[in-house]
Amino acid sequence: MASDNLNWLAHLPEGWHPLYRDLVVGLADLDPDIVIVQAKQKFGELRVYLGKYHLDAEALIRTAESLSQAMCELCGDIGERRISRTGWVRTLCDAHGGGFRPAGSAPSREYRLARRARSAFVLWPGGAGKTANAVPKALTSPRRG
Ligand SMILES: [Zn+2]
Repeated sequence: MASDNLNWLAHLPEGWHPLYRDLVVGLADLDPDIVIVQAKQKFGELRVYLGKYHLDAEALIRTAESLSQAMCELCGDIGERRISRTGWVRTLCDAHGGGFRPAGSAPSREYRLARRARSAFVLWPGGAGKTANAVPKALTSPRRG
């Protein structure tokens, strides 16, 4: 039954419920027999799978999935894909994005500093335990003469 399609709301974050309800209505308008076999959040995006391929339905689903990428999962406000320290990707607004950083942004300052320190460590042969500051001045100063 196509009306069972709304049962997947239980598997979706609350901020996307209006989006998903609109999608279900749109799919029923196309064809009342369309059956959704799975709907979930994956990598910060809405994912919806049908039992049978349906060209127009797929287009509607792609639209809803792409809208979900800019909609907070928790409140439905404008959001963006963000990633936690442990690699968990969610789409969240500024108010709900605490502990996450934008998934597409440059690495954090802490991460860059750690990487730089590690590179200096590796590039300095025999420099076990030494940091970039321990590199002799002669090697870093411009040559004279
Ligand atoms: Zn939010």
